[in-house]
Amino acid sequence: MHASAAAAEQVVNVGTEPAFAPFEYVNDKSKDKEIIGFDIDMINAIGQKEGFKVKLYPMQFDGLIPAVLTGTIDAAVAGITITDERKKKVDFSDPYYKAGLGIIINDKVKDTVKSAADLKGHKLCSQIGTSGAMYASKVEGATLTTFNTPPESYIELQNGGCDAAINDYPVHSYFMEGDLKAQEPYAAARPPDLRAVRHHALKTEA
Ligand code: GLN
Repeated sequence: MHASAAAAEQVVNVGTEPAFAPFEYVNDKSKDKEIIGFDIDMINAIGQKEGFKVKLYPMQFDGLIPAVLTGTIDAAVAGITITDERKKKVDFSDPYYKAGLGIIINDKVKDTVKSAADLKGHKLCSQIGTSGAMYASKVEGATLTTFNTPPESYIELQNGGCDAAINDYPVHSYFMEGDLKAQEPYAAARPPDLRAVRHHALKTEA
């Protein structure tokens, strides 16, 4: 087989979490429930340019980094915020989008919760394993309920099960049909470069 033909057939297995509109979500109007969104367009465009086909693997957000680590998938694209903690586990691409966290509150607390500082002691909800959940877990005296996806946290908020939902700003914005600005950088996650570790191991043996 020709090298170029082999390269053209290369498949990159990409994990994503398709309940994160407008970055990755299921087009419920399509018959085959295809996954669409900003991140999907982006990774497909990269594939087209670099000569690989993207195969998508929908999974829960908190399963993505473990799946990259174990090689179950080759990469993850899911509005993943670059954090120091995650940098210890996976390699990140260059940042491609500036996001950040947002807070949506239930009407019943609108007179008392005017800013993030007022969240103290409140009932919060967020998506499991995310930067939003990490933030919420540090709010003094607050209780946190986590859900598999942001939409579930919105349902809980609507039902009055929590006072405020903390998730990514653009996702809140899409849900609220608003226009919001934010600043956490997203990047694709790929397996780490283990050369440094190997080098270290060799040195230790010597
Ligand atoms: N940006 C957030 C994070 O990385 C949430 C991402 C997501 O839920 N898809 O934690």
